[in-house]
Amino acid sequence: MSKFFSGSLSRLSPYTPGEQPKDQQYVKLNANESPYPPSPGVAAALNAQEAANLRLYGDAAAKELKAALAKQYGVGPENVFVANGSDEALNFAFLSYATDGRGVAFADLTYSFYPVFCDLYHIEANIIPVKEDFSLDPKDYYGLHQTIVIANPNAPTSLALSRDQVEGIVKANPDSVVVIDEAYVDFGGESCVALTRAYPNLLVIQTYSKSRSMAGARLGYAIGDAALIQDLETIKFSTNPFNVNSLTMKAGVAALEEQDYYDANCKAIMETREYTAGELRKLGFAVLPSKTNFLFAKKDGMDGAAIYQGLKERGVLIRHFDKDRIRDYNRITIGTKEQMDIFLEKLRELL
Ligand SMILES: *Cc1c(COP(=O)(O)O)cnc(C)c1O
Repeated sequence: MSKFFSGSLSRLSPYTPGEQPKDQQYVKLNANESPYPPSPGVAAALNAQEAANLRLYGDAAAKELKAALAKQYGVGPENVFVANGSDEALNFAFLSYATDGRGVAFADLTYSFYPVFCDLYHIEANIIPVKEDFSLDPKDYYGLHQTIVIANPNAPTSLALSRDQVEGIVKANPDSVVVIDEAYVDFGGESCVALTRAYPNLLVIQTYSKSRSMAGARLGYAIGDAALIQDLETIKFSTNPFNVNSLTMKAGVAALEEQDYYDANCKAIMETREYTAGELRKLGFAVLPSKTNFLFAKKDGMDGAAIYQGLKERGVLIRHFDKDRIRDYNRITIGTKEQMDIFLEKLRELL
């Protein structure tokens, strides 16, 4: 830290992304990326003409992309905000709805970026423990008079609330914004996008990073009442009006034209997930019932960090969180069936 860094930020501990080591080729099951490439239309959209267009600023209003997303989700373009990854949409939501002493409530076991935003903006966090089985009790979130952020399905637990359960929370907090982070919803969860038409306090955030195979493109979006979207636009135009680059916007539109391709990938990933969960259970692992593209699993009597380390030495990367309540667990991204067979083979070797 330099002596010039603002004192109010000196205790900020930044988010740690999943490692991307380049020392060898790993079977990479640690960052919930898709094992499949983007659809063919995406590569076609990133052509020489688009490269030439890079000399110009892109469309700060993101008209084409917003129209395509609006059509896809049955909302109006005024209900869509596009962001440089859903992390940026979350960033703007924390800044818009939780500062000024309002505070924000979220689970103790959830996306570890949420507490970072709280530190960054000096937001008071009301951390609500999930139950013993890691499920979230909707009633814990009723009548809080605070902004609420819920990853649904949740990470790293892989568990999901039903749409009705989320609706209960939204109804029970009419004077607060409820942000539902649906990064993993395409792997078997129930989306709450349709509810945004009925509830002006509900903001749903999704991403191209997981189910649409575009983590490197950095594209996320928020869907909600036009007034909420306007707030996010105000933050965007106060920080970075061209937040989504022109190539990414083209890729984002092209991907929506090939939704069947992504639906088929999600189906394959869900099938491979159930296969992998079955094999892990045969090996004596406790595996949470996942609605995501990853599994959260532990084996009694085995140290979670040791499993992580042993697999890394054998060329397979998974993610371990050195954190209370989940130290015994590992988060395993679902890759192709071939990748999961390598993972299982190395794991058997290790055991
Ligand atoms: C991966 C992830 C995100 C962030 O995705 P972006 O790449 O920034 O779009 C947001 N929330 C959760 C819960 C995630 O797992």
